[in-house]
Order: sequence, then C-alpha cells, then structure tokens
Amino acid sequence: MTLNQTLRELQGKFSDQDRKMPALFVGHGNPMNALEDNEFSRAWAQVGRSLPKPNAILCVSAHWETAGTLVTGMDKPKTIHDFGGFPPDLYAMEYPAPGSPELARLTQETVQVPVRLDQSWGLDHGTWSVLCRMFPSADIPVIQLSLDRTQSPDFHYDLGKELRALRNKGVLIVGSGNIVHNLRVVNFQEDKPYDWAVEFDETAKQLISAGDHQSLVGYQKLGQAARLAIPTNEHYLPLLYILALQDPQEQIRFFADRVTLGSISMRSVLIS
Ligand code: ZN
Repeated sequence: MTLNQTLRELQGKFSDQDRKMPALFVGHGNPMNALEDNEFSRAWAQVGRSLPKPNAILCVSAHWETAGTLVTGMDKPKTIHDFGGFPPDLYAMEYPAPGSPELARLTQETVQVPVRLDQSWGLDHGTWSVLCRMFPSADIPVIQLSLDRTQSPDFHYDLGKELRALRNKGVLIVGSGNIVHNLRVVNFQEDKPYDWAVEFDETAKQLISAGDHQSLVGYQKLGQAARLAIPTNEHYLPLLYILALQDPQEQIRFFADRVTLGSISMRSVLIS
C-alpha cells in the first residue's frame, strides 16, 4: 500500500467532524472500582452516558511507562491484570474492546515526537477498570499511549498538545491516573484524608479552574503538599496530557472529586 492510500484510508475512518470530542482525566484509584458499585464507579458510568459515542478511545494510563513513547497497534488488545492481592473476581474480569491499528497509525502521523508501534501490551487496569464502567458494552476500539519515563513534565504536556487534532476526528482522549497518589501511606482501614492530600487536591482544583497549566506542569515548585501528593509522577502525568488539550473557551467540570484511602484523590476532569 502506498503512503497516499494509507492516508486516504485513515481519513475515511477518522474524518474531521463538526463537533470536537470532550477530553477526560479520570482518577482511577483502587482497581476494585471496576467491580464495586460505589460513588466512583457510578460517577464514571454517568459521565460515560453523557458523552457522545466516540469513534475510538486513546488512553494515557499511569500504568504503562516505557523508554520512548509507544502506542498499542494490535487488533485485539488483551486485558492486563497488573495488580496483586485482589479477589479472583477481579482477575476474571475481561474488557474485550477491539484495538485500532488505524488510530495507532494516525497517532504516529499526527505527532512530531517519534512514536513506536507496540504489539505486546494491551489494556492495563488504568484503562479497563474505568472504561468497563464508562462504556460497558466494550464496542468502541481502544488504544493506549505510553508514558515515556525518561522525559520531563514539559515533554508530556507538549505531547498532549500535539494530540489535539484527534479530538476533531471523533477520538475520545482519556488520561487515567490520580492527582494525589501516595501508596506509601495509603490507609485501607479508615477513609480519612491526610491534610496535605486535601490541600494539594484543592490547589490542583484552583489551578485547573484558573487555566494555570504552567504551575501544574511545574508542580515540583508547589511545596511540601505537592511533594507528598506526587512522590512519583506516573499517576499525575496523564492529567497534563488532558489539560494540554483544553481550548481557552472550553469549560471544566469536576466529578468524583473526593480524596479516598487517605492519600488518593479521585478528582476527575471533563473538558468540553
Ligand atoms: Zn493506578
């Protein structure tokens, strides 16, 4: 197939549409949210019902870190159970959404950053634990874009900007992580948030509402609460991809905005 044929084929499946798809950051938290009927899984389901049906979904999950940026290119991504110590019912869960080699190729074409095609990953729980509640029929193709662990927060924000064109082609871009995520002090016994967790969650809320993305990209300068909220940044970086997609006139809506297990903020962000 020539390059022109390939491009024509892609333009057919993912042609420009009148309406831009919303963009979504979801705080995924405990993998059990996939299984449990709780305030978070209900909020995800409700948002899923409120969205226009996407042509396909591109998810940036906290749970896929690589050297270089990769995109999943298989027809049938497997459901990855990338966690330990949970009940058998959770390991039995499958999210059989198809992949989209076409969207993977389109993503490679859309961004300046070199993106390698991956054939071995699939859908990790950052992706499927949320999508199984949001789009339970699993009939929308899903691909994942990895987090290049060698890069700075600026790089991730800038790469997010480069994905903007996909929103015009019916692609729902989802970031899945947590704004506050400190597993070292997580408390499964008592659902009482640490002061610093509430403080940083509130700081992030204010900065997101004010459109102050530069302060959020430079989170390392936001003091002690930020250091405790983001001991490692893989759960925070997916937020930067989604904020980078916001046009100035677009609105922000928060949902599932509560700190749970002491040190995990479930705050989720819908941009539309
Ligand atoms: Zn996680």
